[in-house]
Amino acid sequence: MTDNLSCILYGKNDIRLEQRSIPKAGPNQLLIRVKTVGICGSDVHFCLHGAIGNFIVKEPMVLGHESAGIVEAVGENVRGFSVGDRVAIEPGIPCRGCQHCKTGRYNLCPDERFFATPPTDGSLARYVTHDADFCFKLPENVSLEEGALCEPLSVAVHACRRAHLQIGQNVLVTGAGPIGFLCLLTAKAMGVSSVVVTDLDDGRLALAKKAGADHIVNVRGKSQDDLRREITSAFGGLMPDVSMECTGAQPCVETAITLTKSGGIVVLIGLGASRIEIPIIEASTREVDIRGIFRYANCYPTALQLIASGKLNLLRDLTTADYQLEDAVKAFERAQKADVIKVFIHC
Ligand code: NAD
Ligand code: ZN
Repeated sequence: MTDNLSCILYGKNDIRLEQRSIPKAGPNQLLIRVKTVGICGSDVHFCLHGAIGNFIVKEPMVLGHESAGIVEAVGENVRGFSVGDRVAIEPGIPCRGCQHCKTGRYNLCPDERFFATPPTDGSLARYVTHDADFCFKLPENVSLEEGALCEPLSVAVHACRRAHLQIGQNVLVTGAGPIGFLCLLTAKAMGVSSVVVTDLDDGRLALAKKAGADHIVNVRGKSQDDLRREITSAFGGLMPDVSMECTGAQPCVETAITLTKSGGIVVLIGLGASRIEIPIIEASTREVDIRGIFRYANCYPTALQLIASGKLNLLRDLTTADYQLEDAVKAFERAQKADVIKVFIHC
């Protein structure tokens, strides 16, 4: 056992497939034979730009953080896992000692390391080690692809929780990328009555409609007033209780704030420009709460249960494409085409 082919980013547009030594499971860790890794927008962004904000790829870094695999070896002190278990890998490594970690909001840990965020290596390789308490056994009826999808799904679960989403509500989702899609599906699974999805791309909107959006709106060329009319009419004349912003684009943030009903909640999931102009007085005087979202905490178990219970059928509702690890470069090219919602790499 020596083959640990790994997909490594050296810098802007420089992905190389190289052998690395197989790591050893330390105390409280698992060695996992990685099977499936989904490509995320941030992986693509690192490839194209060599950086996201202050996170700059200075040393070669293994890509990938949406992953699932099979336990190959169990480290000292680990309980509850055996060789051969199929697991979803939650890609964070928080400090576990700070106030945020101790109160359960470990996504806010200032010292959290995260797969494929420099300088921390990701999981797009044959093998990875990870702390066992951040690995989750897959129920029998959950596939490895679905296990990998628990990562972006956890973002949607966290966003729905932060939005205090309730049965019967009306929800606006801006952006029909993978995150917007998963927000749509999760909100529906939680029993909301109507979801309107907006995007610029008719292909993605058509997929969202097929996946259960009650109404789709292409925002291209439309003013905020046009959008107000079209979206409220899609909700039967009502304003949405909750808006889930999944683009990071200024016009969408503005739509989310101005269209959400007074006393409603906007969750900002999309990360775009670091500063934008928003109608802040409108938000204040109508008590529209604007809430940030940063990844997730304690959401993997819920994500897994949503899939195992059949409340979400991700592989039916998301279009996917599959590549082998050897073809990772092609997979990254495909991920930029946006003709499918999720590209998987099989390791
Ligand atoms: P994506 O780029 O695949 O999807 C974004 C979608 O928004 C695309 O379909 C695009 O056509 C659409 N869009 C872009 N500009 C638009 C506009 N002006 N009006 C309408 N639609 C527009 O990205 P994704 O993977 O779905 O992620 C969505 C966003 O969430 C990204 O900004 C990403 O960085 C962010 N994200 C945040 C977190 C977090 O923890 N807060 C986690 C994951 C992703
Ligand atoms: Zn911490």
